[in-house]
Parts: sequence; structure tokens; C-alpha cells
Amino acid sequence: MIDLHTHTNKSDGTDSPRELVNKAISMGMKVLGVTDHDTTSSWQEAIDSVRGDISLALGSEISCLTDEGTSVHMLGLLFDGQHQEMQIMLEETRDGRLPRMRKMIEKMRAAGMDISMSDVEAARPAGATLGRPHLADALVNKGIIKSRDEAFQGMLNNDSVFYVSHAAPTPIEAIKMIRSAGGVAVIAHPLASLRGHSLDVSSFQELADAGLHGIEVDHRDQSPDERTMLRVIAQELGLVVTGASDYHGNGKLNSLGEFLTAPDQWEKLESLALERRVVRA
Ligand code: AMP
Ligand code: ZN
Ligand code: FE
Ligand code: FE
Repeated sequence: MIDLHTHTNKSDGTDSPRELVNKAISMGMKVLGVTDHDTTSSWQEAIDSVRGDISLALGSEISCLTDEGTSVHMLGLLFDGQHQEMQIMLEETRDGRLPRMRKMIEKMRAAGMDISMSDVEAARPAGATLGRPHLADALVNKGIIKSRDEAFQGMLNNDSVFYVSHAAPTPIEAIKMIRSAGGVAVIAHPLASLRGHSLDVSSFQELADAGLHGIEVDHRDQSPDERTMLRVIAQELGLVVTGASDYHGNGKLNSLGEFLTAPDQWEKLESLALERRVVRA
């Protein structure tokens, strides 16, 4: 079992890194990707929790914005956690999430909702990358909505009047940074995040030219037809095909290991990293 995309309470997941690693071990997971949004702060606790047969592929899911303003998520795996420019890029994105949250809250208050930044801060675990799920949790705590899922089906989704984007690198900048930090770049759920926007093979061509290593094909937010299309694109461009759960603990319906990466694809991906950075006991 190889699941390369998961979240902890260092971003918008609900399990601690230790709880996540323990769950993966008890399921017999062979390789676990730990990929919190715009941070590597889950790495140390995950490393300290490793035992038995599991291998960790440490990484981050990097928020990106295209020049057209489309939100794209880029998984960076097996990069150097000490790489200065990478850490600065991630920090700048995290910093930009604060004014963005304030703007979203302002819009909600203007619409008469009783919600404040301190409500959101109370819902965010210490040190976690701030995100819409924490706003959703604050709205649940206030009794305004019932669940994160309800929030994302309505007032917190990307098409909502309350939605505000935050500063982020372009996908090509993220790929280049991941590569210069020695890691591998896999575009996360590309058709899920681009839904509603035109997407053609040429945008993948451009990312492949910039050094993209893989495409996350098997993900619950992509339909069977979308997965088939992505598999064809990966084949044409010579990219690795991955699958993953995008597990968020109780924060999402996704269950750990619900989608997996084939061993041969993982071996290919791992061999493309500059150094052997997989963590084992
Ligand atoms: P943000 O990074 O602040 O723009 O928030 C986006 C995050 O919200 C993504 O990482 C998703 O995992 C999460 N998200 C999207 N839809 C849902 C949902 N239905 N339930 C819980 N979390 C979600
Ligand atoms: Zn998330
Ligand atoms: Fe994502
Ligand atoms: Fe994710």
C-alpha cells in the first residue's frame, strides 16, 4: 500500500503526525506521503513516529495560482527540508493566508454573520497552516453550519461570493523550487481543481517542460473519465501516475489508503529525486 498525499493537524487535517503514522503502520502501509499545505512542520514528529516496515515520503502540498487565477495544488515530495528558498516560499504563502482570511471574514460579517478572526484562531490547531477548513470549523462551533462539507458545498467553495484567493507561486515556480530543493513534483488532483476551467494537454505540456514528474490520477475528486484522460496525458508526456487518499482525518470523508500508487510508479518517482530521502526506522 502506497498513499502519497495526506494531511495532519499541521495544516487542515485533524490527526497529529504521530496519529497519522500510527494509523498507516497499523494498516500495513508500505509508503506514506505526509504533505501538509505550504509547510514542512509535520516532518519531525512523523520521523520520530516511524517504526517497523513503513517508509515516509515527506513533502508538502504547495498552493499555487496560475496567471489566469486558477488554484492548483502541487505536491512536492522528497525535497530537502532545509532548503532556504523553499522555506521562504512556503512561509510567504502561509503569511498571505492571514490577510486572505481577514477578507473572507469581513465579507461574511458584512452579510450579517457572527464570525470573527478570534473564532477562527480558536479553531486552528497551534502552528497549523491557516485554511478555509478552520473557518468552516469556526462556523460549526458557532452553530452557523453543520459541517466542513456543508461549508465547502456552499459559502466556502471557490465560486462563493465569500471566496478570496491568497498570494501563491505559479505552478511552474513551484515545480522549479521543488526541483532545486532536490525533490519530485506531482500535480495534485489537476482536473478537480481546474473543474469549470478549460484544460488541454498543452497546459500539462508546459508543466512537463518545466520539470513536472508526475500526475495524481487516482483521487476521489476525479471521475473515472477524468482519470482515463489523465492516464493518457501521463503516458504521452512520460510522467509518473500516482494515486492517493488526500486523507484529512475527521476533516473530510477521504479514508486513509482509499486510493493508492502502484509500486512500479513509486519506484520510478523515488528514483527521480536528487537524493534518497525516504525515511525508515
Ligand atoms: P484553502 O487552502 O484555505 O483554500 O482551503 C482548501 C482546503 O479545503 C483543501 O485543502 C481541501 O482539502 C479542503 N476542502 C475542500 N473541500 C472540502 C470539504 N468538502 N470538506 C473538508 N475540507 C475540504
Ligand atoms: Zn486540505
Ligand atoms: Fe489539494
Ligand atoms: Fe490535499
